[in-house]
Amino acid sequence: EKKTEKEKKTIVLATVKGDVHDIGKNIVSVVLACNGYRVIDLGVMVPCETILARAKEEGAHILGLSGLITPSLGEMIFNVREMERRHLGIPVLIGGATTSKTHTAVKIAPEYKGPVVHVGDASRAAAVCAGLLGDNSATYRKEVQTSYESLRQSFEEKTKSPLVPLNRAREKRPNIDWASVRLHRPKFTGVRVFDSLSLSPLVDYIDWTPFFWAWDLKGSFPKILENKRFGPEAKKLFGDAKALLARVVREGWFHPRAVVGLWPAAGEGEEVVFFEDESRQRVLETFYFLRQQREGSAHKCLADFVAPKESNLEDYMGLFVVTVGRQGEIHADSFKRRGDDYNAILLKALGDRLAEALTEYIHKLVRDAWGFGLKENLSQKDLILEKYRGIRPAPGYPSCPDHSEKEKIWALLRAYENTGVSLTETFAMDPPSSVCGYYFQYPGSKYFNLGPIGDDQRAAYVAKKKKGLESESSRSWGDPSHLGY
Ligand code: SAH
Repeated sequence: EKKTEKEKKTIVLATVKGDVHDIGKNIVSVVLACNGYRVIDLGVMVPCETILARAKEEGAHILGLSGLITPSLGEMIFNVREMERRHLGIPVLIGGATTSKTHTAVKIAPEYKGPVVHVGDASRAAAVCAGLLGDNSATYRKEVQTSYESLRQSFEEKTKSPLVPLNRAREKRPNIDWASVRLHRPKFTGVRVFDSLSLSPLVDYIDWTPFFWAWDLKGSFPKILENKRFGPEAKKLFGDAKALLARVVREGWFHPRAVVGLWPAAGEGEEVVFFEDESRQRVLETFYFLRQQREGSAHKCLADFVAPKESNLEDYMGLFVVTVGRQGEIHADSFKRRGDDYNAILLKALGDRLAEALTEYIHKLVRDAWGFGLKENLSQKDLILEKYRGIRPAPGYPSCPDHSEKEKIWALLRAYENTGVSLTETFAMDPPSSVCGYYFQYPGSKYFNLGPIGDDQRAAYVAKKKKGLESESSRSWGDPSHLGY
């Protein structure tokens, strides 16, 4: 039945402070509006104070917090603590890429007496809101509480596995026989800027599978198109995406830019030292990584993947920042202003796809310049499956979860000046359709999950990080208006 505006329940949605990503939130917003809710979307990078003030002003029945990067998890905890301090009690929805039911149950819900529910799929948002606000809301809230309590218990069981001291983990680290590895010397060292790239070559590099995930169509491309349940919907979406993509490419709606750098480098414990030049005398920068400490793990650290000084080998390491720019966001806003949320979301999702495609494209150029790429002879499909030599881990991801190391990348690559991408106070990249990371050439390098670390490693890491920040505080990482310091 159709509700009058007065009868509608109000949902306030926001992407938390420091975070710029909003595809998932925008889909939730559309889903809820279609299900008869009055949705107030506060946009991205919204400080706690603004969220709570607007929630009060609008008489919110539910508040939805969204975020993509791991620091946003902390910001969400900060938000619900503040809500608890003010005894608000209104239900909170948690959503976004790094959020999970377990994290919500273990870290967020215990901070707040009101209901806190993780919404993994936009398609579930309406059912969750109906549960929280409907006639049987007391039963529903109780059920959520019970299931989160059991999640907390099983989480405790799982994380009981002991850690080994950092020194011991170092001794047990993977033993790489560097003498048997053929290391390549790249054709250039230092910084290279790619500023006049065109969009059309990127199209073939698009990995479509994550595109469907963004719309909760779980499955891999192209199989998803034939899926019994989701096939028809996936086909329609894909058709719309291709049509919009053709227009984007024809009319140049995005401006791809990239900056990469390669330097002589050496692994040293949990650090990689970058040298100014081939003489390897003067240190340009030192990147910090972390070592696995969970008992039974391989005790890996990304720094292991760069040949150490003692090996007497000349290794190199690289950095990159790529973006498709801000124009896509501007076009998306204009779709939205005309009431076309669907194309606004579609365009942002295409922006993310093209940024990832650009990452793959640039990585190929770098491997070629590095030498080993020239002989790889991989199909487009194998490129997307990352079947080449080396890896490009991204700070903030499981092998290297510290987002703040991005500051060093920004400084060495002059990334803001060269690409227009800046870092927010929690190190999200702005504009959102941007990617950054490290390049490693070691053929045995693989992504891994750091897992929990001990207090010994944490304390030492924080101490050296702090020291670095004090001595380097005069650097400029990007557009100062976005920076918290
Ligand atoms: N083709 C995909 C690529 C993104 S996901 C797309 O179009 O979306 C894969 C990327 O995530 C990797 O290239 C790497 O940059 C990052 N990544 C994955 N696992 C990681 C880990 N454990 N540690 C660090 N980075 C990781």
